[in-house]
Amino acid sequence: MRDWLRREPIVITAGKGAVLRDAKGREYLDANASIWTNLHGHRHPKIDAAIRRQLNKIAHSSTLGFANEPASLLAERLVKCTRLGKKHPTNRGLQLSKVFFSDDGSTAMEVALKLAYEFARRSGRSRRPRFLSLAGAYHGDTVGAVSLGHSDLFHKAYAGLLFKSDAVMAPYCYRCPFNRAKPERADAREYRKCNWECVGKVEQRVAAQRKKGNPYAAMAIEPLIQGAAGMIPQPEGWLRRVAEIVRADGAQLIVDEVMTGFGRTGQSTINNQQPSTSLFASHREGVQPDFLCVAKGLTGGYLPMAATLTTSTVFDAFLGKYEEFKTFFHGHSYTGNQLGAAAAMASLDLLGKPANFRARLKLEQALREELKTLWSLENVGDVRQVGLVAGVELVRNWRTREAFNLRERAGIRVCEAMTRRGVLTRPIGSVLVLMPPYCTTSAQMRRMVGAMREAIQEVFERRRA
Ligand code: PMP
Repeated sequence: MRDWLRREPIVITAGKGAVLRDAKGREYLDANASIWTNLHGHRHPKIDAAIRRQLNKIAHSSTLGFANEPASLLAERLVKCTRLGKKHPTNRGLQLSKVFFSDDGSTAMEVALKLAYEFARRSGRSRRPRFLSLAGAYHGDTVGAVSLGHSDLFHKAYAGLLFKSDAVMAPYCYRCPFNRAKPERADAREYRKCNWECVGKVEQRVAAQRKKGNPYAAMAIEPLIQGAAGMIPQPEGWLRRVAEIVRADGAQLIVDEVMTGFGRTGQSTINNQQPSTSLFASHREGVQPDFLCVAKGLTGGYLPMAATLTTSTVFDAFLGKYEEFKTFFHGHSYTGNQLGAAAAMASLDLLGKPANFRARLKLEQALREELKTLWSLENVGDVRQVGLVAGVELVRNWRTREAFNLRERAGIRVCEAMTRRGVLTRPIGSVLVLMPPYCTTSAQMRRMVGAMREAIQEVFERRRA
C-alpha cells in the first residue's frame, strides 16, 4: 500500500481496441485485457451499440420476483452454448439447463458452493458437506470463495473467518516433485517424466474422504489452467481423468471458468479428433461439470455480471411447497442486470462469427511464435501457453529452477519496466502474464512480448553487469 501511495497512478481515461490512454495522453497496450476481462477490445462498436439500444429501454430493474427480457434471452443462449454431446466420456448426458445470475467471479463461485452444499444435504449425501479444491487455488475474495482457495498470500490472514476445505496436489509440471526431467528450454508439460502421480493424489484423497464416511460434496477446479495460482496449466488428459474420479465417487464437479471461459483457452481438438468450437475450457477435454461459473469475459469485459449454470437435478432440489422453505435463499440487487445482459449477448454474437474464431486461432499462433523468443533469456524458467493465456515464470537460474524470493519483487519490477515501454500487465509473484484482447493485431502482439523481453533484460542483465 505504501508503494501505491508513493507513486502517481496511471489514470486511464479512454480505450480503443487493445489500446488504453491515460490522463496525460500516453498510450498503452492492454496486455492483460484489463485483468482478464476484455475479449473484443475496448469500445467495440457492436457492444457499444447493444448497450445504447438497451439504455433506450431500461438500464436495470430487479430480477427478484420479476423477469426481464435480455437476462432471460441470455440465459437461453448460455444454456445453448454450454451443450456438450453425450459421446464425451465424462458427460453422461449432463446438460446445464439452469442459470443463476450474479455480479462477479467470486459471487458466481459462492452461488455454486451454496447450491452444492445444500444439494449434498438434501440428497442425503452428506450432513456436513465438505469440498475439495486444488493446491494454490484461487476462486475469488468473498468468504466462501476464499474458503475454497489455497493461496496462502491471499488467504492466510482470514483463516479464522473461513470454513475448512481440503487441498489436493495441482498438476504443476514445472515444479512437480514427481517430475524427474531436468529443466529444458520448453514448456515443462512437454518434456515431463512422471507417472501421473498428481492424478493418483486426487484418487487417494477422494478415497480417504469416502473412508471417513463423509464423501466430498464437490470438487472445484479451474479447467486447463489455474490463473491466479500462477498460470499453471494442466497436462493434456489431467482434467478428464480427474473428472472421472470425481464422477465415480458421486461427488459434483464445480468448474470455475471465470478466467478460462469464452474462448480464452483457445481452440483445439477433443481427444485429437473433432475440432472443438466450444467456448469453454472444460469441454476441450470432453468434461461437462455440474456447475459452470462464468464472469469476467461474459459481457466482453464491459460490465460486472456473472452466471452460475447448473443442471435441472440441482434445480429440482430447491422446489417445494411454500411452507417447506426450500427456495435458494440467495439474490443480489443487480442480478440479471439488463445492460450487462445486452452486452453479453453482443459479445456472444461476436464469438459465434467464423471470422472471430479464425482471428483467435491466428492470434494464438502469433503468441506462440513470439513467446519462443523468450527462451534465450537466462531468467526465464518456464513459458506456458494455453490458448490466449500465457505465463512466463522468472527464476534466478533456469538450470536449477531456483526461484526468486517474493520480497525481491521480480515480477513487479519487470512489469514496471514494461509499463515504461507502454505495455500494461500485472504479475503473479514471479510469473508474468499475457492475456491479450482478441482484437490484438500481430504487430501489437509483437510489441507486448518485445516489451516483456526487453524489460526482463533491463531488470536482470543490468544487475549482472
Ligand atoms: N475465479 C477465478 C478463476 C478468477 O481468476 C477470479 C478473479 N481473478 C475470480 C474467480 C474472482 O472473480 P472476481 O474478481 O470477478 O470476483
